[in-house]
Amino acid sequence: MLIIGSHVGFNKKTQLLGSLKEALSYGANTFMFYTGAPQNTARSPIEDGLTLEALSLMKENNIDYSKVIVHAPYIINLCNEEKFEFSVNFLTEELNRCNQLGVKYLVLHPGSHVGLGTEKGIENIAKGLNMVLTNVKDTNNVIILLETMAGKGTEIGSKLEEIKTIIEKIEDKDHIGVCLDTCHLSDGGYDIIKFDNFLDNFDEMIGLNKIGCIHINDSKNIKESHKDRHENFGFGNIGFDPLINIIYNSRLENIPKILETPYVDKEYAPYKYEIEMIKNKKFDPNLIEKIKKQN
Ligand code: FE
Ligand code: FE
Ligand code: ZN
Repeated sequence: MLIIGSHVGFNKKTQLLGSLKEALSYGANTFMFYTGAPQNTARSPIEDGLTLEALSLMKENNIDYSKVIVHAPYIINLCNEEKFEFSVNFLTEELNRCNQLGVKYLVLHPGSHVGLGTEKGIENIAKGLNMVLTNVKDTNNVIILLETMAGKGTEIGSKLEEIKTIIEKIEDKDHIGVCLDTCHLSDGGYDIIKFDNFLDNFDEMIGLNKIGCIHINDSKNIKESHKDRHENFGFGNIGFDPLINIIYNSRLENIPKILETPYVDKEYAPYKYEIEMIKNKKFDPNLIEKIKKQN
């Protein structure tokens, strides 16, 4: 079954219910959100009443809550030794929020080593993750998904070897997995046009069963550019057919696919239109113009 959605908002007044309603307005059957602003630490308490209301609305709409994703705030950087304690504490709190919400997957950027070097960076990430998973171990049902990165600056995780090494160092392996991001994979240098070859390689190194989520983004840049600038579906350097092939690859069935493509003119959410185009499997070269007109 195609499980497709996008990044959506999450505000303190409507919380999960508001996020769900936004997703439904796009014709999505899953979604991803931040539990608060990703660039700061202000968080309001989760209101269970809103969560319960959202759960019943999900049931009515046949939405499988186990496919809904939270993205961890990007101020967390377990590599950076000055921020290490803060990052461990904030990620622990984030896991607690996910557990309270009942969300199954939390996507995390592995981190940037900011000059420490890849090896030390990986060591710090694994150490931090082990601390976090120990902190929550009695109550945790959440799987942390390490996102594959574009390799911008000193980012760790643009090579599968790095992700593999981190996972090898994690004690509680049932609570660690991977989130693929198509823009990041291409920017990181992987050929994702022949995606089955990539999946064979991934399966051998890490195991396909570790994939919990796929971010479906086109890229504004060419392969191996290490830029990390997302483009609307089919309008970038990856292109429509390769992305469609990834979405409908039978080995990735039942894995949630999440769009993080940019707003048109920074104003209009493209997701309803992109999801419709993905369901039709037919590229609409006028999609961007159409979005501008209809909003
Ligand atoms: Fe991300
Ligand atoms: Fe992503
Ligand atoms: Zn990105």
